[in-house]
Amino acid sequence: MKTYQMLVDGAWVAAESGRTLAVMNPATGEVMARVPEAAAADVDKAARAARRAFDEGWRDVTAQERGRILFRLAEQVRKDVKALAELETLNSGKPLVESEYDINDVATCFEYYGGLATKLHGEVLNVPDNAVSLALREPLGVAGQIIPWNYPLLMAAWKIAPALCAGCTVVLKPAEATPATAIALARILDAVSDLPKGVVNIITGDGPTVGAPLVAHPAVDKIAFTGSVEVGKRIMRSAADTLKKVSLELGGKSPNIFFADADFESAVDGALFGVFVNQGEVCSAGSRVLIQRPIYKKMLDAMVEKAKRIKLGSGMDPATKMGPLVSKEQMERVMRYQEIGRKEAKVASGGGRPREPELQKGYFVEPTIFYDVDNSATIAREEIFGPVMSVIPFDDEKDAIRIANDTPFGLAAAVWSRDIFKVFRVVRRLQAGIVWVNHMQPTYVEAPWGGYKMSGIGRELGPWGAEEYLQVKQVHVNLNEAPIAWY
Ligand code: NDP
Repeated sequence: MKTYQMLVDGAWVAAESGRTLAVMNPATGEVMARVPEAAAADVDKAARAARRAFDEGWRDVTAQERGRILFRLAEQVRKDVKALAELETLNSGKPLVESEYDINDVATCFEYYGGLATKLHGEVLNVPDNAVSLALREPLGVAGQIIPWNYPLLMAAWKIAPALCAGCTVVLKPAEATPATAIALARILDAVSDLPKGVVNIITGDGPTVGAPLVAHPAVDKIAFTGSVEVGKRIMRSAADTLKKVSLELGGKSPNIFFADADFESAVDGALFGVFVNQGEVCSAGSRVLIQRPIYKKMLDAMVEKAKRIKLGSGMDPATKMGPLVSKEQMERVMRYQEIGRKEAKVASGGGRPREPELQKGYFVEPTIFYDVDNSATIAREEIFGPVMSVIPFDDEKDAIRIANDTPFGLAAAVWSRDIFKVFRVVRRLQAGIVWVNHMQPTYVEAPWGGYKMSGIGRELGPWGAEEYLQVKQVHVNLNEAPIAWY
């Protein structure tokens, strides 16, 4: 079995303590590799290396060169799609076809930010004086980045690419459960990109022992985090001590709204895909399915019929449509919600673990549909992060908007209807950072990603993503040759 090392200051190292952590294959419940179990001393080394790399060189590397590095990375990731996708599936459980999709997106993300590097510029300001006034954009410095386990390599790309594009250096901590592809990416970085040492450091370990000291470290200027609201709040509190900039992507309880005039077949598929893709381990999962009463029963029946046919299995099997959840812990968490749901609403489909003998060792749960759910129920309010759909009926447009917005979250929403006027009335009223119309989940690096309300702070992707790693410097150039003659 492989024991990986981590990348700190341009060197492949073990944890200072020599300790390692097991990396599991969630389809079998077996250990697939081991990684260093880093701690505060390792974080300190990585943060100092990133600081040195920034202060002593990376900040002066031209945007053109940063762009070329990102393009080289993208090219190698594209060449390695198959191998990276297999590793992603083995470690996260998701079906191979979804991993391949993710890894292609990783390459696209590096390409996008490679191109953007030379398009980030400042402004010349029209001040009322004989002067040149400039607003320059400069990199923030060292970025600490903490990512989750649901899209392991894609989340790493969403963090590393804009940071390098903006001229920052990085210390990235993958989730303890899914470090495999982040380490594989570090190998690519090391091998092909000619990145100076210390510019990207990848450090493995768990949240409290690696993430927390990274957030507190004085050499780190910014924290970018994706994960739970609870940890997001903790990060914000801790970052206050050193006044770090933070960006937080914290998930949601997104409404997927179906009006009676929606295209019926697309609606059924859109509702299922919205919450069951990636085993429901999706921050923007359309986990609250709001259906207008005239089509409520018909759509529920159609969804149940299709949901019962979703094939569970190892992500490596091409027939699999839904893999295992990422960990035993996450499986048990989702099962607790299934139990709560059975008391709060009616079960239309699933509701427990699958019974097939070959699925007993892995962390599988059934795709589950609860219906007649009240929006005040726990399963309609809390993020489950698994394949659990809560179906809620609504009367009219006003009712749909009221229910949709009645949540502490505000990451995403979707509206399905053929009436463009109604659609736009609803879109304008939805409190969500991302709104899809007649679709759910397509995500593009060109478009902003982030939430309203408790779903986070800041935006990822597009130019907004790079902006999170920049700060603005005002420069005033006096063109008056005479002294100011004030005294
Ligand atoms: P967490 O928020 O705990 O994990 C996200 C990342 O934060 C991981 O890298 C984790 O490390 C790290 N972390 C944990 N504690 C700290 C800390 N004190 N300081 C710094 N970093 C820390 O999510 P969980 O994995 O526990 O999942 C629980 C729930 O969170 C899910 O069911 C889901 O509802 C939500 N979630 C939302 C995500 C999203 O995309 N918005 C993604 C993942 C989860 P490690 O895991 O190594 O301990």
